[in-house]
Amino acid sequence: MFGGGCACGTVRYALGEAPYDPGWCHCRLCQHVSGSGGLVFATVHLDRYRIIAGGEHIGSFASTAFGTRTFCRRCGSPLSIHVQHQPDEIDIPVGTFDDPEVIAPAFHLYVAEAPGWMPMSAFLPRYRALRPNTRGLLDGQTEADT
Ligand SMILES: [Zn+2]
Ligand SMILES: [Zn+2]
Repeated sequence: MFGGGCACGTVRYALGEAPYDPGWCHCRLCQHVSGSGGLVFATVHLDRYRIIAGGEHIGSFASTAFGTRTFCRRCGSPLSIHVQHQPDEIDIPVGTFDDPEVIAPAFHLYVAEAPGWMPMSAFLPRYRALRPNTRGLLDGQTEADT
């Protein structure tokens, strides 16, 4: 069982499967939410994601026309992104896992928006925006809102 939660410990979640498809996102929204050069996310199926404590303290906002982010209203930790083109999956910041070592990022998204000082792995593929094979988007489509 994989689990995690926010910085203040109010919100706790459990994952009923191993998270998959981990990667960096360097979009401006992830920069704002992280206060840094981006966030690392991994994915689970929505029906394997369960809030086990503090659900009443979760806030959410529509971060884009196609996605909703949640966060802890007490400490501000980012908790999830849910996008329309992947209705049955949810993306979770790996830094909120109890053990962030369980999975390592395998690619960089939105590198066109990353600050120049953001260190990036020389060994991982980099994409200007989304990957051209993003689940739920048309083949070759790399922006979800166009
Ligand atoms: Zn919190
Ligand atoms: Zn992002």
